[in-house]
Amino acid sequence: MFDTKWHLVKKVDSPSGLVSFLTLQVQDSFNFEEGQFVMLETEFEWKKMKKPYSISTTYKQMEEEKHIGFVVKKTSLDWMSNFLTQLITADFQVSVKWPVGHYTNSLEHKKYLFIATWSGLSPNVWLFSKLVYQQWDYDYIVNIFWEKTHADIVPEIETLFTQHNKENINNFFHLSREPNIEQINKQYQSTWSTIRYQTWRIQGSLTKAIELLWTDMSCFICWKPEMVDDVRYILEQSWVDKEDITFEKY
Ligand SMILES: Cc1cc2nc3c(=O)[nH]c(=O)nc-3n(C[C@H](O)[C@H](O)[C@H](O)COP(=O)(O)OP(=O)(O)OC[C@H]3O[C@@H](n4cnc5c(N)ncnc54)[C@H](O)[C@@H]3O)c2cc1C
Repeated sequence: MFDTKWHLVKKVDSPSGLVSFLTLQVQDSFNFEEGQFVMLETEFEWKKMKKPYSISTTYKQMEEEKHIGFVVKKTSLDWMSNFLTQLITADFQVSVKWPVGHYTNSLEHKKYLFIATWSGLSPNVWLFSKLVYQQWDYDYIVNIFWEKTHADIVPEIETLFTQHNKENINNFFHLSREPNIEQINKQYQSTWSTIRYQTWRIQGSLTKAIELLWTDMSCFICWKPEMVDDVRYILEQSWVDKEDITFEKY
């Protein structure tokens, strides 16, 4: 079993401070399959904490920069996600154990549907990096993402999703508690043609995604268990093959 300690080299926070993009320095030779998660373990103020986190960066990024990244959302008051988003400091060492999981598939289709909420976007970040920066061949991407407010989005990630925004990438971002939705939409729609910030129901975006992609698409869903099951049901009723749906339940 792979078991090591790596230190934090970079932490970028969302404006709300509730979501962080953490980068650890890889010091040993590390092998993982993109889409896998590791167990992060730490001891802080006499608390031993251990939780799984998806790797958000690509294999190529690890080879070239010796970094692996994680997107973490604070969901507890005083446990692991609180430690990783609020308390961890530069050079703090975190134990990393066993990459496992199968949030990946052969990417055999050229059309992609990504659906995520909160930290569920974490494993979609590597897919997006691969498709966009490493010029993976694609015809169309629809990215559906749900968060509470715009301030909960890490700017680096928003930029990754939107800077290559072309006619064949459609971002549907749902912000359920955003008080300034109209202002945000105005600001972004002047620069990005296919970004849409809207209030919370994702069903409309899902219907739109199915209309846009129709069949032969690879779907990646990362969400709460009941949500993943609902979305899988809707997709399967819409002629999407079971084998083309990859999912992770947080
Ligand atoms: C495969 C997988 C991948 C994941 N990837 C990500 C990811 O990339 N990013 C992300 O943000 N999340 C991810 N998650 C969720 C993540 O693992 C954690 O569940 C999440 O960060 C919340 O952890 P937490 O410890 O802060 O809170 P909780 O899980 O809510 O912690 C509560 C639990 O911790 C213990 N606990 C808490 N406080 C105390 C206390 N004071 N004393 C004793 N015990 C206590 C208890 O057991 C309690 O049930 C993933 C989950 C899975 C299953």
